[in-house]
Amino acid sequence: MILGCHVNFTNEQLLGSTKQALSYGANAFMFYTGAPQNTIRKSLDRDLTKQAWSLMKENGIDLKNVICHAPYIVNLANNKDEEKWQFSINFLKQELSRCKELGISYIVVHPGSAVGIEREIALQNISAALNFIIEEDAPMILLETMAGKGTECGCTLEEIKTILDGVHSNHIGVCLDTCHMNDAGYDVRDFDALLEEVDKVIGLKIVHCVHLNDSKNVRGAHKDRHENVGLGTIGFVSLYNVVQHEKLKDVPKILETPYVDRMYPPYKFEIESLKAGRENSQLLSDIMNFYK
Ligand code: FE
Ligand code: FE
Ligand code: ZN
Repeated sequence: MILGCHVNFTNEQLLGSTKQALSYGANAFMFYTGAPQNTIRKSLDRDLTKQAWSLMKENGIDLKNVICHAPYIVNLANNKDEEKWQFSINFLKQELSRCKELGISYIVVHPGSAVGIEREIALQNISAALNFIIEEDAPMILLETMAGKGTECGCTLEEIKTILDGVHSNHIGVCLDTCHMNDAGYDVRDFDALLEEVDKVIGLKIVHCVHLNDSKNVRGAHKDRHENVGLGTIGFVSLYNVVQHEKLKDVPKILETPYVDRMYPPYKFEIESLKAGRENSQLLSDIMNFYK
């Protein structure tokens, strides 16, 4: 089971992220190279990176299961403000080279929001931007499936496919987010059928990451509010089915579930119960008692 969670990129950079992941019992993890809501980035410390790599090696974390997430203010869809669009492109290029320095293989990117322009054009803009950004020897960009909140692009497999078709490179993949797919209208509870559709539309072999989240909202709500494992509308059994699915056995599953009371990370307990295949009926109180 390749299972981990979102962690912080601390003052110790990737070393700090690795330590945090290990404290949760994770063998995979995802991080932002700085604050997710801005693009201010510190330079990387080679020494900390090397220490992170050896700590991973000692503990059986494979670097290919360590994923970076681009900040969500990057928007490749709207080029009406040419300067902003260029900024997003340049920032992602820099982010790719930072990831390369860290030895990372994959970076998850939200396709973008159309905000005020036609959807079809927005999808074309995303492909055009990706054509500027993608480099064969840089880490691979994974487009995340979105919930369809507001004017978000990439909330159907067909839209993702349209973006991919406009990219002149095969060095691109996809990240499936269970909460987003549920909110976009897909039935995560019938995961076999969903995977078949994924395979038919975009091809299962380009899926290199799964975001494992329960959802606070009903299927098709177009909301995007993540819930702790087992406490949402997708439920423990269905999420467990995703984690241990044979067809995704080499793909890292990353929890992006909310902190309890905004303070206590749920990951140690969520990972424990998913590993055991048993729902923890006292998840929230266990988490609070542990950190209090
Ligand atoms: Fe995301
Ligand atoms: Fe996600
Ligand atoms: Zn989300």
